[in-house]
Amino acid sequence: MKIAVSGCLLGQSVRFDSGHKRDDFVMDELSEYAEYISFCPENMAFSNPRPSIRLVKNTDESLKVQSNKTGDDLSDTLSEASKKDLDNIAMHDLRAIIFKSKSPTCGIGSAKVYLENGFAAGKDDGVFVAMCKEKFPLLPMEEEGRLCDAWLRENFVMQLYSYDSFENFKVGANMKDLVEFHRVNKFMLQSKNDVLYRKLGKIVGNHEKKTFTEILSKYEFLFKTAIAKKSSKGKTRNVLEHMAGFVKSFLDSEEKMMLHEQIDDYAAQIIPLIVPLSTLKLYASKYEVAYLLEQTFLSPYPKELALRSNVKCVK
Ligand code: SF4
Repeated sequence: MKIAVSGCLLGQSVRFDSGHKRDDFVMDELSEYAEYISFCPENMAFSNPRPSIRLVKNTDESLKVQSNKTGDDLSDTLSEASKKDLDNIAMHDLRAIIFKSKSPTCGIGSAKVYLENGFAAGKDDGVFVAMCKEKFPLLPMEEEGRLCDAWLRENFVMQLYSYDSFENFKVGANMKDLVEFHRVNKFMLQSKNDVLYRKLGKIVGNHEKKTFTEILSKYEFLFKTAIAKKSSKGKTRNVLEHMAGFVKSFLDSEEKMMLHEQIDDYAAQIIPLIVPLSTLKLYASKYEVAYLLEQTFLSPYPKELALRSNVKCVK
């Protein structure tokens, strides 16, 4: 699985002060499952060490890149280097991009913008991020700063693995495969957005008798849009209750009560998501409820990442 990553997060000494911002999650956890493609448009443009830069708002609201030391307009030089880095990462079959937060080049909506007089004028996407969003509108993208939040990290990794599963699935797929793909992703999609899940179901239903190529293309767009949505306590709780409905006929009243208590405790952030999910998995396995066992929502990514073991992975 190839992921493009800001070079400084990979521990490369490419920052303006020749330092780096090695990220533990990227380097020590996700690296087990991914191959990283590094980029650093600023280092390509200005090498290091170099004066720091900032984004400045022009009178026509457009943005320019300015040297903090000389005040020179460096927009064209950084833009050219960014295009080269964009071409470099685009040569790879990427599954996601992870950016360094707050940077005028790499920040996703977190790059500070200034007025000519030096006053703050809000925040925006960095120069390279804006280009990446235009080039890869549906690709999972996140900043390392936001990945410190357990809920955002879980959402990103779920999106990443769901995106990867679709990319792998679509190679040589036919209509029957798509029906199956939609079926096993039911609860994962509902945890993201139930309206989009239903729209995807209509696409798979194909009442207008479209060609498979048309169907797949519409499905891909909506699937990738759905997995980019964030889960919530309410949506996840609904999914858990729905899943519990598949095993309830096998359980005695005490077991049912315990399962519902676990779901309540999860929603109250007393226990992590992994607890009710493990109980559901146990019952699905014991009573051979294949429909549940096949759901990607039960195991969307390697369990070693332990993202659902944190009570804070909910909002
Ligand atoms: S934030 Fe981006 S441009 Fe700045 S050093 Fe890191 S990779 Fe390079």
